Amino acid sequence: MKLIAGVDVGNSTTETCIAGINEDGKFKFLSSAITETTGMKGTVENVKGIIKVLNDALLKINKKINDLDVIRINEAAPVIGDTAMETITETIITDSAMIGHNPSTPGGEGLGVGITIDITELDKADSGNNYIVIVPDSITFDKAAELINSFSEKVNIKGAIIQADEAVLVENRINIKIPIVDEVKHIDKINKGVMCAIEVASLGNTIKMLSNPFGIASIFNLTPEETKFVVPIAKSLIGNRSAVVIRTPSGEVKESIISAGILTIFGQKSVVKVNVDSGADEIMKAVNEAGLIYDVSGEIGTNIGAMINRIKNSMANLTNMDINDIKIKDILAVDTMLPVNASGGIAGETFMEKAVAIASMVKVDRLPMMKIAEKLQNETGVYVKIAGVEAVMASLGALTTPGTKLPIAVLDIGGGSTDAALLDEKGNVTSIHVAGAGELVTMLINSELGLNDRVIAEEIKKNSVAKVESLFHIRVENGQIKFFDEPLNPKLFGRVVVIKGKELIPINKDTTLEKVVQVRRTAKERVFVKNSIRALRALRAIAPEGNLKKIPNVVIVGGSALDFEVPEMILAELAKYKIVAGRGNIRKSEGPRNAVATGLTMSYF
Ligand code: ADP
Ligand code: MG
Repeated sequence: MKLIAGVDVGNSTTETCIAGINEDGKFKFLSSAITETTGMKGTVENVKGIIKVLNDALLKINKKINDLDVIRINEAAPVIGDTAMETITETIITDSAMIGHNPSTPGGEGLGVGITIDITELDKADSGNNYIVIVPDSITFDKAAELINSFSEKVNIKGAIIQADEAVLVENRINIKIPIVDEVKHIDKINKGVMCAIEVASLGNTIKMLSNPFGIASIFNLTPEETKFVVPIAKSLIGNRSAVVIRTPSGEVKESIISAGILTIFGQKSVVKVNVDSGADEIMKAVNEAGLIYDVSGEIGTNIGAMINRIKNSMANLTNMDINDIKIKDILAVDTMLPVNASGGIAGETFMEKAVAIASMVKVDRLPMMKIAEKLQNETGVYVKIAGVEAVMASLGALTTPGTKLPIAVLDIGGGSTDAALLDEKGNVTSIHVAGAGELVTMLINSELGLNDRVIAEEIKKNSVAKVESLFHIRVENGQIKFFDEPLNPKLFGRVVVIKGKELIPINKDTTLEKVVQVRRTAKERVFVKNSIRALRALRAIAPEGNLKKIPNVVIVGGSALDFEVPEMILAELAKYKIVAGRGNIRKSEGPRNAVATGLTMSYF
């Protein structure tokens, strides 16, 4: 029997399919495997992953690499994806000492306004003034309470700011009722002898005065000019349960503005300029107008300029090419929110700023697949053949999905790009690639939930979430309640968790179930649903006798097609065009995976 391996090297994953042909010419699929791509797609570093995936698949049928008669690798699509995001509103950097803060357990409630004073200097306080006491963590909570109690008759103490997480401990020990804010990491940054306001909301409420620019203005007697500068501060405090705002020592406000910038798209039809400030829809309109894209550039000295430069730089590094030779062939822009550090923050405060995320696609002339083939052949001793174009192979593989027939359209949604191909009855294949897929969705989830953790963002993308309502039950996002016989880890109590099989992974952030679900679903809609339509439109534009309605059925394949809700979202959208769409089931057994690798073995036959 002849043993044939098909290998598909993608941006994210390397897959293989092993097939056999016996003496009387009968073709049989025998095994498959999947592993992470080693190195950048199209480089010789891929060989390591290829050998691993082959070993994995062959082990399942008790064979070795040197039992193979041929390894067929594909002419990989010469597109490499990257993602980046940047705030699009003007960034005003003020040198203000105004700060906002949101500890999880503040003490007391209400608004307190006064002059900042170190707790050890209360003896020097003036009886005519109001004060906010500052408690560094060198002072224990009982010592702090003792000091406050002993001075509370002589000094008007209106509030306290504590470095340690001890607001409640102090509150319980003092005989005056004042708001107390704690967990102020950089307490040393707070000037003494300046006007300061602290606010703690009552249970179930959020602060009112300090999250309102006019509230801050009335407390500090600000001019309309000065009030303008506190807008970002007020914004960063919206929704907080507590906050601190300190009066900027006069004349110290400096500002510099970085504008969003102009994006220029060099297309076959026209060169289109668009102000990034106008948002993702306008940018995508410009992309459409430009026609086939040669390159994209961003105005120097602006946010978009820096962003495009970053993308090209990382591409140049990865591909070992000169930055001037890196041409962006497509972009997908998506509106998003990005946590931005509040200037003057004392505990790493951030606020959400409007931003645009861009997935870009860079075309390289032709990936050096020959080099990979050579190295693979040398290392394995097996004949290696570069066999056909990725899109053709994907279409062939997708056709093994039960219920499909020619003509067939394939939507391959991977990590960096979304590829669409159309295979007609005569065997002609048309294909296109557009920027943006799974990676961008993970990035959106990561930033919009302010996670700063790609690993957990990836888990949120792939799984349902639940709220741990007691140690014995969780409420799943669909409303289902699940009970447990054994108590859950107390650390999970009250948390929103990702349900990964039997494992519950807590999302380390003050967030709600509804918020996580909303961010996850809208991220997928903005990327996967929009891009599927965009890809099919582009396909229609170049397909012979193209017509979106003439695309009868669309088989969705690739890693992102494994997603538990994406194929349904795409199906719902495409149904409007009377297109039947669904998740592929390659060889009736592989789900949406392995299409290209399968196609590679079939094309041998
Ligand atoms: P490529 O062909 O470019 O190597 P893949 O087809 O392997 O890419 O797709 C990779 C993408 O698939 C990643 O963005 C990954 O997050 C996503 N992915 C993998 N498994 C799942 C899953 N179970 N649910 C949702 N997305 C998934
Ligand atoms: Mg792929």
